[in-house]
Amino acid sequence: MTAPLIGVLALQGGVVEHQHTLERLGVTTRQVRRRSQLEGLDGLVLPGGESTTMSKLLDLGGMLGPLRGLLAEGMPAFGTCAGLILLGSEILDTRADAHCLCALDVSVRRNAFGRQVDSFETDLTVAGVTGADDDPESGPVHAVFIRAPRVERVGSGVEVLARVTDPTAGASDGAVVAVRQGRVLGISFHPELTGDDRMHRLFLASL
Ligand code: GLN
Repeated sequence: MTAPLIGVLALQGGVVEHQHTLERLGVTTRQVRRRSQLEGLDGLVLPGGESTTMSKLLDLGGMLGPLRGLLAEGMPAFGTCAGLILLGSEILDTRADAHCLCALDVSVRRNAFGRQVDSFETDLTVAGVTGADDDPESGPVHAVFIRAPRVERVGSGVEVLARVTDPTAGASDGAVVAVRQGRVLGISFHPELTGDDRMHRLFLASL
């Protein structure tokens, strides 16, 4: 079987860390900067960065419509942080001209964890992520949040995979930070920074 080809949206943000993680898992990757580079992909990773900048660049590059179309046709996608924001169907606390890709029926609030905790780390229990007995990474997922969003409304077709329950993280109410709808996965944190491949593996399992 040939390795899947996964695009990493490379307009801005943390691109190469995702490529390295995917390549460690035996996947071929392609940086996606232009519309033509969306063709022939088995899936797309939308990295963290600045969602309003990515939205503007998607629009300017003529990629917004084609990407929305591919997602509507069922292209698997994995958005982390700003990527989750873009994949949502409603973005709260953003610029009036920001666009969404509307692939996840959720409302996402940007920069939702308050100033004191703009960045924090916590352990999460993520549904569907267990780790085999012989896996040194089994146990909770250590999650790094950087000016992170949270999901504030979840549509009926969307599964909640993880919530923050750590009150020191400013989310004692159980903020939703990982969701999945069909083959589209969105998470508020940065799995490409921790060396734990399990979130990427969860995405690849849906291809
Ligand atoms: N705060 C950023 C935004 O609104 C997301 C931060 C991130 O991707 N680490 O796009």
